Amino acid sequence: MNNALKHDALIIVGAGHAGGRAALTLREEGYTGRLILIGDEPHAPYERPPLSKGLLQGTADLAGCSLCDSTRLAELGIEHIAGNPVSRVEPQRHRLQLADGEWLPYAGLLLATGGRARRLPQEQANVLYLRTHDEALALRAALRPGTRLVVVGGGFIGLEVAATARGLGCAVTLLEAGPRLAGRVLPAVISHALLDLHRGQGVDVRLNVSLASIEADAVLLADGQRLACDLVVVGIGMQPNTELAAAAGLEVGQGIRVDAHLRTSVADIYAAGDVCEFRLAGQYQRQETWRNAEAQGRHAALTMLGRDVAFDAVPGFWSDQYDWGLQTVGVITPLTVSRVLPGAGLLLFYLDAEHRLQGACGWARGNSVAKDIKLCERLIITGRPLNEASLADPELSLKHMLRG
Ligand code: FAD
Ligand code: NAP
Repeated sequence: MNNALKHDALIIVGAGHAGGRAALTLREEGYTGRLILIGDEPHAPYERPPLSKGLLQGTADLAGCSLCDSTRLAELGIEHIAGNPVSRVEPQRHRLQLADGEWLPYAGLLLATGGRARRLPQEQANVLYLRTHDEALALRAALRPGTRLVVVGGGFIGLEVAATARGLGCAVTLLEAGPRLAGRVLPAVISHALLDLHRGQGVDVRLNVSLASIEADAVLLADGQRLACDLVVVGIGMQPNTELAAAAGLEVGQGIRVDAHLRTSVADIYAAGDVCEFRLAGQYQRQETWRNAEAQGRHAALTMLGRDVAFDAVPGFWSDQYDWGLQTVGVITPLTVSRVLPGAGLLLFYLDAEHRLQGACGWARGNSVAKDIKLCERLIITGRPLNEASLADPELSLKHMLRG
C-alpha cells in the first residue's frame, strides 16, 4: 500500500453490486483506512436479479435482495453516501465532486457505475423500464390480472418480465426487433427453445418487428398494426454509465477500459462490473452479469490493495423463466457438442480446436442444470482434451470425465 493510502480515503463510485462487493472485500482483506461508498440510489447495495423475478412476483422484498444493509456498512466503518451522485472526477488533483458540491480527496478510486436502461426517444406515462429497485416496485404495482402488457425487447429483461407477468395473469405480447430471442448472447437452439416455451405459456411473441410509435392505449408497428394495451415495458439493452470517466479523460470504448488488473488508463483509478471493458478471450468486451460484478468487485479491491494478480475469472450467467432455468459458463466457440437431457433439457459444450472445453450452456427444468454447469466450469479450468462422443452421451457423467 502506498503512503497516500494512509491519509486519504479509498472511494468507490457506484453503490451497486460491484461497488458493494469491492467495499466488503477491502474490509475483509484488512484495509482499515477511510472507505467511502457513493451511490445515486437511496438504498444500500442490493442485487438486481430478483427485480425481474421474485421482487416482481411479490415473493421477495428489498431486504431479500440486499448485498449489505446500512447496519452492516456502519459496523464495518464504510461511509455510505446515498442519493448524491459524483458529478466530476479530477485525476490530477486526486479528488472528486458530489452533486451537492462537496469535494472529496481520494488515494484510490473505483468506478463501478454500472449502467442504465436504454430508453426509447419518446417518453410516455404508460412506458416503464426496469433497472432499479424503485422501477421494479412501480412495475409490480402495474401488473395486475388482465393487464394487457406489451414488452418491447426479447432479451433477458423482456423474457423474464414476460414470464413473471404471465404468472401474475397478464395478457402479454412480446416484440423483438431481431430474428430470434436473446440472439446476441444465446445459441440458436436455446433461442428456439425459449420461443417455444413462451408461446406455450400464452405469450404472443413476434420476431423481426419494427416499432413505429407508442400511444396512451396502443403500440403501433411499422407495418401498420395497432396493438391495444394498458402498459408497455421496454427492455432494449443497457447503456453503460461511462460519462464520468470520459469527462475525466480516462480511456473509454464500449465501457471504461482496464488492463488485466482492472486498472484504468489513469493512475489510481480502477473500474469493475457492467461498466468495465476488459479483455476476454483476446477481445475487449463488457460482461453485464451478476457473476462478473461479483468477481470484478472483489478483484478490483485486491488490486487497490496492491495485490498483483491478473483477473481471469470464468464468465457466466443464469436466467429463470417460468419453471425453466438457463445457465452458461465460459465462452462460446464454433465447435459445439450437444447432450440431450431428460425432460427435453439440453446441455451444449463449446470446445476449442484441441477439444478442450471453453464454455457450456444448459437449459432444463428448475435448477437441475446447475450441477452440470459447475462441473463444466471445473472441466474448463483443468483444460483437459475431451471426447466428443462421451460429451454427447447423457449416460456418461461429467464428474467421471473430470476425474479423467
Ligand atoms: P449496477 O448494479 O448497475 O450498480 C451501479 C450503481 O452505480 C447504480 O446504483 C448506479 O445508479 C450507480 N451510479 C451510476 N453513476 C453514478 C454516479 N455518478 N455517482 C454515484 N453512483 C452512480 N445477471 C445475471 O447474471 N443473472 C440474472 O438473472 C440477472 N438478472 C437481472 C435482472 C435485472 C432486472 C437487471 C437490471 C439485471 C440483471 N442481471 C442479471 C445483471 C446484473 O444485475 C448486473 O450485471 C449487475 O447488477 C451489475 O452490477 P454493477 O455494480 O456493475 O452495476
Ligand atoms: P439485452 O439483453 O441487451 O436485450 C435487448 C433486446 O432488445 C435484444 O434482443 C435487442 O435486439 C432487442 N431490441 C433492441 N431494440 C429494440 C426495439 N426497438 N424493438 C424491439 N426489440 C429491440 O437487454 P435487456 O434485456 O434490456 O437487459 C438489460 C440489462 O439487464 C442487460 O445488462 C442484461 O444482461 C441485464 N439482465 C440480465 C438478466 C440475466 O442475465 N438473467 C436478466 C435481466 C436483465 P438486438 O440484439 O437485435 O438489438
